[in-house]
Amino acid sequence: MADVKLTHVKKIYSNKVEVLHDINLDIKQGEFIVFVGPSGCGKSTLLRMISGLEDISGGTLEIDGKVMNDVPPALRGIAMVFQSYALYPHMSVYDNMAFSLQIAKTSKADIDKQVRKAAEMLQLTPYLDRLPKALSGGQRQRVAIGRAIVRSPQVFLFDEPLSNLDAALRVATRMEIANLKDSMPDSTMIYVTHDQVEAMTLADRIVLLSGGNIEQVGSPLELYEHP
Ligand code: ADP
Ligand code: ADP
Repeated sequence: MADVKLTHVKKIYSNKVEVLHDINLDIKQGEFIVFVGPSGCGKSTLLRMISGLEDISGGTLEIDGKVMNDVPPALRGIAMVFQSYALYPHMSVYDNMAFSLQIAKTSKADIDKQVRKAAEMLQLTPYLDRLPKALSGGQRQRVAIGRAIVRSPQVFLFDEPLSNLDAALRVATRMEIANLKDSMPDSTMIYVTHDQVEAMTLADRIVLLSGGNIEQVGSPLELYEHP
């Protein structure tokens, strides 16, 4: 179970500007939610509040019915994939994916099992011994996704994971993410983009943010089909 519930969530930055006013949203376990909206409307802010990288100024965030406002990021059962891959440059692909499990003192055998399973899922098995610099941008982004997968998070957050890739890689990596969604149907996925094609192909529900509020929520067809 990993429902994510936002109730009257608000964000005021230290400069006193209120960038999100009153966000109310019920995300069901296994749902793929995509936040869209113009640059600066608060998509990243919202994602960072869910992950715990940013304080919540008002309202409540619940995961699984538990209030998370003051729970540290590492204890929220969440993994985040950013637009810049931020891999450890001196570590192999294998070690990049294994690192967080080593920190968590997972046994060597379990680490090996989880890393190889994620590598298989993301077609990274032939590259496990390589350093990040010997990979393409798309492969690096898959390693970043692999690092998130190995911890078996209940909730995945994606902040424009494709925006640094060229057009062809963007399509290929988008399909990887669609496969990920199919192979982890119980994981809740929350994804930020300004790309309508990404939103339409990946989302179960699209949430349109504008002016610090939710302007519209609906399936891709409901939002983008104009009969
Ligand atoms: P988006 O991801 O939709 O482009 P952001 O969440 O990055 O939007 O930003 C929302 C608004 O909050 C913008 O006006 C941005 O300038 C402002 N903002 C973001 N981070 C900070 C910060 N640390 N301090 C003050 N304002 C910020
Ligand atoms: P995005 O690509 O999400 O639109 P931005 O360019 O808005 O990102 O912001 C990049 C970084 O700068 C973010 O980490 C954000 O927190 C910070 N930032 C954005 N606007 C402000 C601001 N007005 N004051 C302080 N920090 C800001």
